[in-house]
Amino acid sequence: MNKYIFVTGGVCSSLGKGVTASSLGCMLEARGLSVRMVKIDPYINVDAGTMSPYQHGEVYVTDDGAETDLDLGNYARYTRSPLSRANSITTGQIYQEVIRKERAGEFLGRTVQVIPHITDEIKARVYKVGESDDVDVTIVEIGGTVGDIESVPFLEAARQIMLEKGRKNAICVHLTLVPMVAGNELKTKPTQHSVKELQELGIQPDVLICRSVVPLDESLRRKIGLFCNVEFDAVISEYDVKTTIYEIPLILHDQKLDTIILERLGVESRHSDLKAWASVVDKFRNPTATVRIAIVGKYMDLGDSYKSVYEALFHGGIANQAKVELVKIDSSKLESIPDPGELLEGVDGVLIPGGFGERGIGGMIRAARYAREKGLPCFGICLGLQVMTIEFSRDVLGYADADSTEFVKGTKHPVINLLEEQVNVKDYGGTMRLGKSETRLKSGTRIREIYGQDAIFERHRHRYEVNNDYRAEMEKAGMVVGGLTTDGKLVESLEWPDHPWGIGVQFHPEFRSKPIEPHPLFKSFVAACRQRALSRPGSGAAHAAP
Ligand code: GLN
Repeated sequence: MNKYIFVTGGVCSSLGKGVTASSLGCMLEARGLSVRMVKIDPYINVDAGTMSPYQHGEVYVTDDGAETDLDLGNYARYTRSPLSRANSITTGQIYQEVIRKERAGEFLGRTVQVIPHITDEIKARVYKVGESDDVDVTIVEIGGTVGDIESVPFLEAARQIMLEKGRKNAICVHLTLVPMVAGNELKTKPTQHSVKELQELGIQPDVLICRSVVPLDESLRRKIGLFCNVEFDAVISEYDVKTTIYEIPLILHDQKLDTIILERLGVESRHSDLKAWASVVDKFRNPTATVRIAIVGKYMDLGDSYKSVYEALFHGGIANQAKVELVKIDSSKLESIPDPGELLEGVDGVLIPGGFGERGIGGMIRAARYAREKGLPCFGICLGLQVMTIEFSRDVLGYADADSTEFVKGTKHPVINLLEEQVNVKDYGGTMRLGKSETRLKSGTRIREIYGQDAIFERHRHRYEVNNDYRAEMEKAGMVVGGLTTDGKLVESLEWPDHPWGIGVQFHPEFRSKPIEPHPLFKSFVAACRQRALSRPGSGAAHAAP
């Protein structure tokens, strides 16, 4: 069908545009449509790979190794849209390509301008995803807020696409905020202003989705519709949810948003099947136990820095009918206290996530030792595996100065060091070991049992590796190498000996977990944490088996 939905945002940022766009995708797939998702980020960075997790949250990695905005992670959790480099567009990429063409003389002497050259490049990228035969609807989320200088060329490109394709084939869904003031009064003025700004750019929204703390009543929706020139039934209330953001597709479906969109796009109505989704939400709402999982990382202040890890833990919880309580611990705090038990006592498992740089590593090493010694389930991801290697080398192999050359360049025992191909790399952008590759799992290992297959495909994003010079020694001391690259050269997974659950992986399994398809490693880890919780009063774990 090759239809388009542009999702824009008004009033302010952080309204949940990514989750709303994903929920639209989820609802349209439930109607049997083939959906694609595209994120536009108006920043000048070419990709998110060089951006600080503090500023921008998690960097989501696709199979083909693109380092993208975390909203692609939302798309992956809510929809089946294939996601690759093509699904993430930035101002940086657009300008890089237009300037390349200009230098190559492809514009034949013409003046190169925002309109038409930049907008043409934007449209070409959107069409590249949306015009393929197997695509019904492409949802294009335009990052930023209407009124930002940066997003103007993208909104102009969206306007042109709506004009070229016709309003039966391309529509605009605008997300706004209806704030509550003085404790109980909902205000529509900011929404009116943001729609006006959109109209000034030549875009009339077809649907308004209004974020608010409580549901909007009919009179308020009528007022918004009247002032914003949007039909009443297309003014949708997206109010704050209590249990989980996975409720959003159901809330929007209850207000018939999917039916309205199909009507606007001239698509024949078809049966909606959101049963699997409703069952996820139901399981979320009715856990039979609570497990407390400590995340010991360095980017703890921003909620989104480990977004996919947190979500994957929740998915593991769904699979085990357990409510997962995240205990977020800043690893540098663990460095200075006398006993790590002060922060880790009472948790049922520890997860050490990915990260870069030296700060806080000592705290992660302490957390790993605590978990290894106390038989506490421990899951190391990427940097987490490297930390587990350093800890084991220091304590079991007896190399007190064992380290990664990322943290101590000239260490005598570099148990983690640079990949051969990384030694001469100078540029930071897009130069790590990135994207999907195959890992072979060894029979008889824990990880082989968890995956239930010999060959697995997971995504990578790192420069450093377990140093093979220490591999045999570590194995002799009991560390189990569970997975290797197909050529047998790189360690992909390690397991602690004689431990209930101590696994580190060099790849990022969190990027592939979905609420309706929890990742096997997260499912197994949460199961082990649930088992551990049996001994903790108040977990509820003793009352019911999953
Ligand atoms: N800093 C480590 C490396 O580059 C780990 C990276 C990560 O955790 N994603 O290898």
